[in-house]
Amino acid sequence: MNSQERFDRTTTGRPLVSVVIPVFNERAVLPVLHQRLDSVLGPLPVRYELVLVDDGSTDGSGQYLVDLAQRVPGVRAVRLSRNFGKEAALTAGIEHARGDAIIVIDADLQDPPELIPQMLSAWQDGADVVAMKRRSRAGETALKRWSAHLFYRLLSRISAVDIPHDTGDFRLMSRKAVEALSRLPERNRYMKGLFAWIGLPTTVIEYDRAPRAAGHSQWDYLSLFRLAFEGITSFSVAPLRLAMVLGALIAFGGVLFGAWIILKTLVLGEIVPGYPSMIAIMTVLGGTQLLSIGLLGEYVGKIYFEAKQRPVYLVRDITVSVREGQRPVFRDVKGTRHVA
Ligand code: UDP
Ligand code: MG
Repeated sequence: MNSQERFDRTTTGRPLVSVVIPVFNERAVLPVLHQRLDSVLGPLPVRYELVLVDDGSTDGSGQYLVDLAQRVPGVRAVRLSRNFGKEAALTAGIEHARGDAIIVIDADLQDPPELIPQMLSAWQDGADVVAMKRRSRAGETALKRWSAHLFYRLLSRISAVDIPHDTGDFRLMSRKAVEALSRLPERNRYMKGLFAWIGLPTTVIEYDRAPRAAGHSQWDYLSLFRLAFEGITSFSVAPLRLAMVLGALIAFGGVLFGAWIILKTLVLGEIVPGYPSMIAIMTVLGGTQLLSIGLLGEYVGKIYFEAKQRPVYLVRDITVSVREGQRPVFRDVKGTRHVA
């Protein structure tokens, strides 16, 4: 924040609200998105800016955002150098937002912008984090709903921080919460977990999740599984422990089985060469070992990526309106547009 911005903030006395939106191939929804956000935020007694992060879209979303930012004051378009994934795009957006409160929202309008006034009033009542909890997940398959449910339950059981169920990335954060978040240096940014880790006074608001306005979800089951796995291994070493317990159980079973074989041989003498049981044991053991090594590898891999200290994302360019430079827009109570 430069001194001009600080000056703007203190003179107008209105809080600045940033809305951060990760965008990946969302060309079809962008016009509706902008319009809906504008009609929700316009009448509110706040100044606001939209921080749209283009996460390496290939459908022209990026160019659309650049044009929008040039045309409309209070819109900034941050284009990343390639597709880094939603978590990285979110991080980029949050880092480029300057608001006193920052709201993270999906581009596809599954998170209704109409809830923003409610979020803001919870913030003004003292919450540093306003987490939005999904009551229903309209337009999602039963399998997706069920797997999401299972995942949240599992994660909260095996990790130390309580990651709230059914809250996505749709949330409001105070400046304080954002600063806390930016102090977490890790590169594996499992956002929901990071949000939970920072703590601070949190208000939970329930809402009904709408189906996508247009386009289609970028998440297939494989990438959802990857995200779930990422969440678990970033916030818990329980899988390592599980591998150890499993290994111990199998080893114990092996000892018992061995003793029984020896006993049997002593009593009955050697009858049949134990080919099937040997193969069975070998496959079980081999499988368990590979599984455990794989798990271990997952954590070692994490250390490897953290050790490289690479940035979470790279910015290609940032566009703000030429006329108004970096100044955010606001409307007064009558709805007239002003530039701070
Ligand atoms: N997104 C992104 N980068 C990606 C994938 C998705 O920035 O690699 C954005 C996407 O544009 C949308 C949000 O993340 O704004 C949520 O994506 P999506 O709707 O596909 O996920 P879902 O709603 O199914 O969780
Ligand atoms: Mg979506």
